[in-house]
Amino acid sequence: MGRLVMKFGGTSVANIERIRNVARHVKREVDAGHEVAVVVSAMSGKTNELVGWTSDAAAMTGTANEELLALARADSTREYDAVVASGEQVTSGLLAISLQALGINARSWQGWQIPVLTSDAHSSARILDIDGSALVKGFAERKEVAVIAGFQGIHAESGRITTLGRGGSDTSAVAIAAAIRADRCDIYTDVDGVYTTDPRVVPKARRLDRVAFEEMLELASQGAKVLQVRSVELGMVHNVRVFVRSSFDKPEDIDPHAAQPPGTLICNEEEIMENHVVTGIAFSKDEAQISVRQIEDKPGVAAAIFGPLADANINVDMIVQSVSSDGATTDLTFTVPASEYSRAKDTIEKAREKIGYKAMDSATDLAKVSVIGIGMRSHAGVAAQAFKALADRNINIRAITTSEIKFSLLIDTAYTELAVRSLHTLYGLDKV
Ligand code: ASP
Ligand code: MG
Repeated sequence: MGRLVMKFGGTSVANIERIRNVARHVKREVDAGHEVAVVVSAMSGKTNELVGWTSDAAAMTGTANEELLALARADSTREYDAVVASGEQVTSGLLAISLQALGINARSWQGWQIPVLTSDAHSSARILDIDGSALVKGFAERKEVAVIAGFQGIHAESGRITTLGRGGSDTSAVAIAAAIRADRCDIYTDVDGVYTTDPRVVPKARRLDRVAFEEMLELASQGAKVLQVRSVELGMVHNVRVFVRSSFDKPEDIDPHAAQPPGTLICNEEEIMENHVVTGIAFSKDEAQISVRQIEDKPGVAAAIFGPLADANINVDMIVQSVSSDGATTDLTFTVPASEYSRAKDTIEKAREKIGYKAMDSATDLAKVSVIGIGMRSHAGVAAQAFKALADRNINIRAITTSEIKFSLLIDTAYTELAVRSLHTLYGLDKV
C-alpha cells in the first residue's frame, strides 16, 4: 500500500462529466489499496472569469475620490483572493460528491481547513507550513479520500484567505505531498508527460521517461508550461517524486500496479539511469532586449541599472556585460519580457543621470532558445555544436548566457522554429 497525491488541472475537471471521469481515476487507486489525497484546480476558464469580475468591480465608475480609490486598491488583493479561491472550492465539493456516488468515502478540504498556512502576499502567497495530520487521520480512521482545493491557503495572523498565484494548484499538490509524506505526487493534465521540446513545434519531440528536478526547473523556467516552476522547486527541496501524466486516458485501462504508466517522472538525478547530454530544448518568444551603451566602467553602475528595475518589479532575464576595451566605458545588455519592455525603457531613461550612459538601443521580437541537460556538466563543447548548427542556417545569435546545465541563445523570433528543430536533431532528441 502506498500514499498518493493525485492532482487534476482545469481541463481535467472542465465539466461534470470530466469530474466523474476523475472520480474513476481516483477509485482505481483507492481500489488498489492506496491512501489518496486529491488536489483540484478550478474548472477551466473559471479562474479567468472570476479575475475578470474582480477587475470589473474595481472599475468603480462614479468614484472620483483619489484617496478612496487608493484605499480600495490596497484592500483589493485580499478580496481578489476571496473571490478567485472560490473556483477551487466548487470543484473540491463536486469531486467529493462524485466519489461518494461511486461508494467512496470522501470529503472536501479548503485551504483554511487543513490548514495550508501562507504568507500574506495576497494573489501570490508562499506556503509556509502545512499540517497534514488531519488528512492522515482521515486515511487511518475512516479510509477517507481527501479532496483538497488547490491554489488557496490562509494567512494565520489575519485569518484571510490567500491564493498562490496563477497555476498555483501544482504547488499546492507538491506541498501537500511533502506534508503527508506521499510516495508520489501524480499531476494529471491535458498532456501525457514532459517532452524533449514542444511537440506542436517539433513533431518529432519525444516524451521523456524521467527528468531530474534540476532539469525540470530549467525547462519550466525557460518556457515549458507543463508545471508551475515553484512546484518543481518544492519537489526538489522536499524530494517529492512528481509524475506528470494524462487525465484523458481511460481510467480503467491503467494498471495501478505498473512500474511506470505512460508519463514522465520528475525525480532525483540518482534515479535516472539513461544519461544523455541534452535532455530538452525550451524556448520563449516575446522577449525584448535593451542595451545601455558606453556606461562608465566603475563600481556601482550595474547596481544603478538593475536597482531601479528591481524596484519597479521588472523581471530581468539575461544580462550580458562586455569587458571594457579602453578601461573607461563598457556596454551592458539585458532582456525583459516584451510585456515589460516599455516600462523597462522608461525606468532606464529616468535613471539616466545616475547611471551616466551615452546611448540606449533596444529590440523586440526576440526569442530565447535554451538547451538543457545535466550531462552538460561533464561534457565539453556542447554549446559550440549549437553555434555551428545555427551559423550553418544563417541564424544570428544576439546574446548567449550559460549555466552548469543550460545555455540560452537570444535570436530573432522569426527563426525560433527553425532553430529549435535544428538543435533537436543535432542533439539526437528526434523520435525514431
Ligand atoms: N485555478 C488557478 C489558475 O487558473 C490555479 C491552477 O489552476 O493551478 O491559475
Ligand atoms: Mg495548471
